[in-house]
Amino acid sequence: MATVLIDSFGRKAVDLRVSLTDRCNLRCTYCMPEEGLQWLAKPQLLTDDEIVRLVRIAVTGLGVTEVRFTGGEPLLRPGLVSVVERCAALEPRPELSLTTNGIGLARTAAALADAGLDRVNVSLDTLDPAVFRTLTRRDRHRDVLDGLAAAEKAGLTPVKVNSVLMRGVNDHEAPDLLAHCLEQGYELRFIEQMPLDAQHGWDRSSMVTAEEILERLSARFTLTPEPGALRGAAPAERWTVDGGPGTVGVIASVTRPFCRACDRTRLTADGQVRTCLFAREETDLRGALRGGGSDAEIAELWRAAMWGKKAGAGIDDPGFLQPDRPMSAIGG
Ligand code: SAM
Ligand code: SF4
Repeated sequence: MATVLIDSFGRKAVDLRVSLTDRCNLRCTYCMPEEGLQWLAKPQLLTDDEIVRLVRIAVTGLGVTEVRFTGGEPLLRPGLVSVVERCAALEPRPELSLTTNGIGLARTAAALADAGLDRVNVSLDTLDPAVFRTLTRRDRHRDVLDGLAAAEKAGLTPVKVNSVLMRGVNDHEAPDLLAHCLEQGYELRFIEQMPLDAQHGWDRSSMVTAEEILERLSARFTLTPEPGALRGAAPAERWTVDGGPGTVGVIASVTRPFCRACDRTRLTADGQVRTCLFAREETDLRGALRGGGSDAEIAELWRAAMWGKKAGAGIDDPGFLQPDRPMSAIGG
């Protein structure tokens, strides 16, 4: 069996993102339309056993060392705690984390930590409940704040917070979000908005850039680039805030893409390998699973898919086309 997921540019994928569902209880405007998105039907979704088998193949046979569960909203997946527990029992044990909107985390954080989850990333774009309603089209701001507090209490630390800024909606809140996260002990990372919304309404000229974010933060805080500024495969460039120990990260996926150092491979909720968020091709592992494929055959399909990974996301290429799936169905 192959031992690593290497591509033709020499990058090794050790970080696996697993989408557990395409459904969500929010409707963030940069991700999903208000209504009308077609959900995957239950038989199309990988079962819990299928997910654990693919994670096992990745971890034991393909060199994957980190597994992050995402979606859609992964907390909506009924079997999440048991999937985490079974993945934590694998040898070698992968690092396990979860990207979530935080709704329901107040109820499940302790069970997830007990099951072996190491960390969470919670998405929080605003401190204002009214802005939250506009941005997510749902009135659940309190649930997210409670979820964050529960994650910290359960030891799912460092708790990381992801924020996407949208011009004229929440971009004025950058310094307040940072002050809040520093106070609570959360690690904040701003993410540039990418062309992955279901409505295909992304517009580069209105995107809030990393440079602008840093400018806004610098009006209130002293930011010092973290030592060893080369970020390697970590997409977030980090700054120490006011002499530390607090930090802030900025993920400049559009204006300073990190494709050359990308170490990710992705699995959609219906069992397709994607080599990149922006890939336009997928490789079907579900068919191989359900068709009786052996672990070695599935590993070989995965390896071959990753070998074909493109050099970059290509957002700036003249012929750039947004992928057909929106972010919620790829797994962010
Ligand atoms: N529902 C979970 C959540 O919101 O954290 C997990 C899935 S969500 C697709 C993962 C991350 O992608 C979130 O932090 C979200 O803010 C981010 N995201 C969604 N659409 C995006 C876009 N168009 N550009 C940049 N980030 C986006
Ligand atoms: Fe749901 Fe996350 Fe997309 Fe918001 S960003 S709609 S919470 S999947």
